[in-house]
Amino acid sequence: MWASVQTEWIERTVRLAGQNTPTRENLHLQIQDFAQALQNVLGEGAYHNLDPILERWASSLTQTDLESSTSDLMRFMGILMTSAFETIKQHLKPPEALTLIEGLLPCFNYANEQLAQHEIEAKTSYISNRLNQVQQRLERLDKSKSDFIAIAAHELKTPLTLVEGYTAMLREGLRQRAALSHDVVILIEGIENGARRLRNIIEDMIDVSLIDNALLSLNLQPTWLNRLFEILDRELRPAIEERHQTFQIHHFPGCDEMIFGDPERLLQAFRNILVNAIKFTPDGGIIEINGRELPGFVEVTIRDTGIGIDPNDQNLIFEKFARIGNVALHSSGKTKFKGGGPGLGLPIAKGIIEAHGGTIWVESKGYDEVRCPGSTFHVLLPKHPPSLEGRAADFLAAIAPSQSLSE
Ligand code: ADP
Repeated sequence: MWASVQTEWIERTVRLAGQNTPTRENLHLQIQDFAQALQNVLGEGAYHNLDPILERWASSLTQTDLESSTSDLMRFMGILMTSAFETIKQHLKPPEALTLIEGLLPCFNYANEQLAQHEIEAKTSYISNRLNQVQQRLERLDKSKSDFIAIAAHELKTPLTLVEGYTAMLREGLRQRAALSHDVVILIEGIENGARRLRNIIEDMIDVSLIDNALLSLNLQPTWLNRLFEILDRELRPAIEERHQTFQIHHFPGCDEMIFGDPERLLQAFRNILVNAIKFTPDGGIIEINGRELPGFVEVTIRDTGIGIDPNDQNLIFEKFARIGNVALHSSGKTKFKGGGPGLGLPIAKGIIEAHGGTIWVESKGYDEVRCPGSTFHVLLPKHPPSLEGRAADFLAAIAPSQSLSE
């Protein structure tokens, strides 16, 4: 029965499918092959006779087909089926038509399933290839960014040392000739301040490239968090007072317990977080350090009543140079309200905390300069960093003095 309608079906399908199908090459021939395969399946009931053609069609998908969200192959299969049923209805008497359609239906079902599967496989492999390519490009880009930072930092160091050296000589020379007037001192201090800020930025750039290349080495030793906070309290007090802010350091379980860490690096990490808290909290706001003890860990929270951070930016701010917001609006003071920086403070804090085997994240209801929802930075630190596990930790604990080495 199928043989009697095949020719008519092929003509009709070619007309319907036109050139807009994924199998546009030799369309007539291909439909003819499929018709023949259907004939075999109807006779023997072996659906796998359709497989070679279906595989060929699936492999003929072009890049545009693979990128498209709709399925051209499934649409094509739909055309094949409807045109078959239309042709059969037109050319055969109802009982014969019904028998043939009943026979063809499972064949088309099988073909549909197979094509869908092939197409999903082709699209998945295409997408994962593309993802790999993009990933490799991103890695190359990140590597060249990191190389650039390292080279730029190194190249900037030499001229900066010259500026610092000549400024010191100028100051000393003028002092010896008793020519160090008030105006001259102000000018020299201006140069010295600029040079100091430049040195800080260069050191941050070097730290970021160390972190990027997993070269940050920690000088692990017994450390007490409350002592680090005391140092930061003394250091940041002038800035906090200038901004009329309140700085509260709570005594929380775990803060006076000995943990192993690099006190200098931990100071740097907490300093970066606190300087941001001062910068992004309006005058009169509150900054507080609190925390809790967890099994094997101490969690420190640094909360401010500042402008907050948009949820979309809460991961971005830990990436290097990812300073958010309008760069032009940023002022340049280190602790001035919304004072700008190169966007390296948090990536460095993250790198240091992670090098300790810890983790850092931020919580904020969002960014609002009027209502100031505030931000809370969480720092989770293991008491024993992974690099100091086992006997080394026991040894250090046994010889640990009762006073912090960080003092
Ligand atoms: P920067 O050098 O710009 O301060 P950071 O890496 O320290 O770089 O911070 C990145 C960005 O994260 C800041 O520019 C700021 O937009 C946002 N940010 C960091 N801390 C806070 C905070 N406590 N409140 C609001 N925004 C913050």
